[in-house]
Amino acid sequence: MKLLNVRLIDAGEVKDRVDLEIEDSRIKAVTPSGEHASASAENPDMADSLDLAGKTLIPGLINLHIHIMLDAGNNPEAGLNQPVPYIVLQAARRAQAMLEAGITTARDLGGFEFAEMSLKRAINEGWLPGCRLLTSGKVLTMTGGHGHFFGQEVDGEDEARKYARYNIKMGADCIKMMATGGVMTAGVDPNNTQLSEAELQAGFQEAFNAAKLTASHAQGTSGIKNAVRAGVRTIEHGIFLDDEAIQLMLERGTYLSATLAAPRMIIAFGEAAGVPKFMVDKSRRVMERHLKSFSDAFKAGVNIACGSDAGTPFNSHTDLTTEIEMMVEGGMTALQALTAATRTSAEALMLPELGTLANGKLADMVALDGDPLSDLQTLRQPLLVYKEGKLMFKRPGSLGDSSPKLAQPGTPVTEHLHPQDHFC
Ligand SMILES: [Zn+2]
Repeated sequence: MKLLNVRLIDAGEVKDRVDLEIEDSRIKAVTPSGEHASASAENPDMADSLDLAGKTLIPGLINLHIHIMLDAGNNPEAGLNQPVPYIVLQAARRAQAMLEAGITTARDLGGFEFAEMSLKRAINEGWLPGCRLLTSGKVLTMTGGHGHFFGQEVDGEDEARKYARYNIKMGADCIKMMATGGVMTAGVDPNNTQLSEAELQAGFQEAFNAAKLTASHAQGTSGIKNAVRAGVRTIEHGIFLDDEAIQLMLERGTYLSATLAAPRMIIAFGEAAGVPKFMVDKSRRVMERHLKSFSDAFKAGVNIACGSDAGTPFNSHTDLTTEIEMMVEGGMTALQALTAATRTSAEALMLPELGTLANGKLADMVALDGDPLSDLQTLRQPLLVYKEGKLMFKRPGSLGDSSPKLAQPGTPVTEHLHPQDHFC
């Protein structure tokens, strides 16, 4: 299969007219346009080619921080007060909608009763369409700590170890631990330190031993530093960064996944839409500082990945554009923010076969009508979405009669990626 004459935005570069050749699930060649003739009756070999002149192609977007089981309603905790099978059916629809929105990979950072493991399995087996999911199982939090209503409470290093091991036993790709309080849990403060450095270290060590990823919900300054010193790979939120925290992140190569969209959406919809007052108040208190921390970290050269905390109030799973826009608000160029949401996020997940469209990489690709670098809104309406070389979505009526056929349900997925495959 060939995509011809496309404008390619990939790995921080723009190439104006290139052709991509895809063989099975992977990119076989990226060449300047003109080396292939157009499809025609005289060129039957080109019947599987598609002329995308005037369109833009980007790698599939990656969201480092979602909650597939949370409903993005006004009170996600209340949304979990439903039978688990009903919650899973909703989550399955979300995973498909995310794929159709061009988000081909997402890391769930806090599931519900391990049901997301079955969803991941169904998607990997290929009979349920959806974005590629990495999962964390239950978040580990202290007794009464942030997220206790859907996580696992652990106190002391032994319990941190035990439940990290249990998450891994249940199929987790990542261990997520709560280093501080947060916005979405009543009665805790984002500034409060929660799990101790020793508890974080104990849980993360189990992840390192099993070659799994690590993430820490960390908003207050001392909790952020505890998590970085404990060796975490991604700091989630990072609201109250100071110079020392930024320096530590630079020394350790820690990634920041800021989730700026989460407080922004809570503030935008607010109590009028039924968001609990405590969430709105806390979000208002942190928003400005949050954006400043992001800017400071970016300017200092911290690795910036892209996570939105989708599933929190009015923070839709299908919308990564708001987060990307806010990263631009925080000082990135549109090209830098797109690179964060593709290449850098793949690096943070230790999935080197994703995030760019170079030869040999998996063909997760999104075709857009127009130029996202001049108008990020273009990202909201993909024309075509490919996952591992298979066309999973085309916008109705977008390419006329010559438009390619969608992959059929039941098409097996050939590649099952797990971060541990790439540890050495
Ligand atoms: Zn979250």
